[in-house]
Amino acid sequence: MVRFILLLALFLALCYVIKGFLKGLKLRKVLKTGSKQAGEQPPPITDELVQDPVCGVYCPKRDALSLNWQGKTYYFCSDKCRQEFRDQKK
Ligand SMILES: [Zn+2]
Repeated sequence: MVRFILLLALFLALCYVIKGFLKGLKLRKVLKTGSKQAGEQPPPITDELVQDPVCGVYCPKRDALSLNWQGKTYYFCSDKCRQEFRDQKK
């Protein structure tokens, strides 16, 4: 019986430690998201290639200029091509 009480006490102590640990983790997470909101985190880099619908050139998505047209996103190699695309759609 004494052993059972000892085990119970140990279990409770463990629960307390885990609770404290989780609290610490949550606090750290809040701090991390706080710095994200400050704009310190750069956007994720993708090496995906996209084709310019105007001149047909392929360029990395991260360097391309994007335009949202009727729910679809188009990517362009330069602002000139994007402007041309806009003029075509008018
Ligand atoms: Zn182009």
